[in-house]
Amino acid sequence: MAELRCLICGKTFDSAQSEAMPFCSPRCKQVDLGRWFDEKYGMPYEADEEETEAFARDGSTTQDDGT
Ligand SMILES: [Zn+2]
Repeated sequence: MAELRCLICGKTFDSAQSEAMPFCSPRCKQVDLGRWFDEKYGMPYEADEEETEAFARDGSTTQDDGT
């Protein structure tokens, strides 16, 4: 039996009884997953804007030019 502390809610729990290691419960696991997604979709927002701008400047008139 090992006592761990849940990273999400800070509660201590018995690792042998957890259904969602390394969290104390499936709910906390879900919360962690949600945070991870938030980070993933929150960060590229700036880069995406920059990329769109560059694309508009450079490739606005891009068409199939010849063959
Ligand atoms: Zn927890």
